[in-house]
Amino acid sequence: MDLIIQKYGGTSVANPERIKEVARRVGKTKDSGHDVIVVVSAMSGETDKLIKLAKQITETPDKRELDMLVSTGERVTIALLAMALQNIGHSSQSFTGRQVGIITDSVHTKARIERVSAERVRNALDEGRIPVVAGFQGVDEKSDVTTLGRGGSDLTAVALASALKAELCEIYTDVDGVFTADPNIVPNARKLDRISYDEMLEMASSGAKVLQTRSVEYAKRYEVPLVVRSSFTMNPGTFVMKEDKDMEKVIVSGVTYNKNEAKVTIMGVPDRPGVAAKLFGLIADAEIVVDMILQNVSSDGKQADISFTVPKTDLNKALEITRKVAKDLGARSVAAREDIAKVSIVGVGMRTHSGVAARMFETLAKEGINIMAISTSEIKISCLIDAKYTELATRILHDAFELGEETAVKE
Ligand code: ADP
Ligand code: ASP
Ligand code: MG
Repeated sequence: MDLIIQKYGGTSVANPERIKEVARRVGKTKDSGHDVIVVVSAMSGETDKLIKLAKQITETPDKRELDMLVSTGERVTIALLAMALQNIGHSSQSFTGRQVGIITDSVHTKARIERVSAERVRNALDEGRIPVVAGFQGVDEKSDVTTLGRGGSDLTAVALASALKAELCEIYTDVDGVFTADPNIVPNARKLDRISYDEMLEMASSGAKVLQTRSVEYAKRYEVPLVVRSSFTMNPGTFVMKEDKDMEKVIVSGVTYNKNEAKVTIMGVPDRPGVAAKLFGLIADAEIVVDMILQNVSSDGKQADISFTVPKTDLNKALEITRKVAKDLGARSVAAREDIAKVSIVGVGMRTHSGVAARMFETLAKEGINIMAISTSEIKISCLIDAKYTELATRILHDAFELGEETAVKE
């Protein structure tokens, strides 16, 4: 019998009515002859609420305790959904991350999955039940509760799909699939029928939160068949799959934005070997992921300014480390900016087409939007800009690459 993993995000289980609706959808899949495992997130807004609660106790909550706290959101929805399924005549049981055997490292709030035993869900399936699994959570070797980073229920679903060799992993959310840009910001964004793992990975890591970045990495590595679709409609969604020749014809597949990063600048550091290694070594030791890096050397070549971006949630820690390094090196000063955003264009066709970057920069320049930093990969170009232009920049880039049209730019 085919096994399907269905993951429902926060808005899909936002209230009792929605949970009953999800139960009906899950029940239909089961009735049509499939085995189903359901993964759910906390009700929408609940995880944020729990984090706020912690911040009312202390600005810098201990991460182990934070995980203990935020993992409770998913406990509520698994129990409610199992009850809803039972209520319409299905045999169902809820399971926490620990019960499913999702074993992670001990990096609290962004733990990595090390292995998935899934023994209890296998047994539940054998008994004809529908297991309902808490997303976003696992346990480390000491049995301490960990969480997998924001949006981490997607990863739970993908990891289970891989461990149990599911036929399909369906990610149900509040939009019809993956769009050429966030449909809540760009009204004429177009739904993509398919997207390659690589493009999805770049889109997710540059801000399209429709799938968590790590979940896409995992899906790519283990070739998990993935579809993103709406729990509010019956529309078919977007398949995330291996790249094929046709995909290369499209130069740009999507525009993304990310307002969740902050910029740190260390000014007047001596321009000599080892400075960047020291700074970024210490930042990495603190498990902080640096995104963009920019270095300007003064005209006399003796001093440099280094700017870099980190997630806003890690800004305080990054600043603390940078100030210490600045003191050790005799740097002039350290500054931070939170009102910045990154806009990116993504497409596998960039590998084989030139002039894409120039078109992006011209488009921003025409609206008077200054570019503070640029970074590129083979299939992505990102520009750091003032946060107040985020929506405008996303829309004009979407138009410039004709993504809203039926005919996206082809060779
Ligand atoms: P869930 O709670 O179901 O996990 P998320 O809020 O994490 O849902 O992700 C869905 C949201 O992602 C959408 O409501 C949409 O605003 C946002 N989003 C951003 N970029 C994109 C994109 N390119 N395509 C689709 N959705 C996107
Ligand atoms: N509830 C968690 C969050 O809000 C996990 C998820 O929604 O996937 O980040
Ligand atoms: Mg999500």
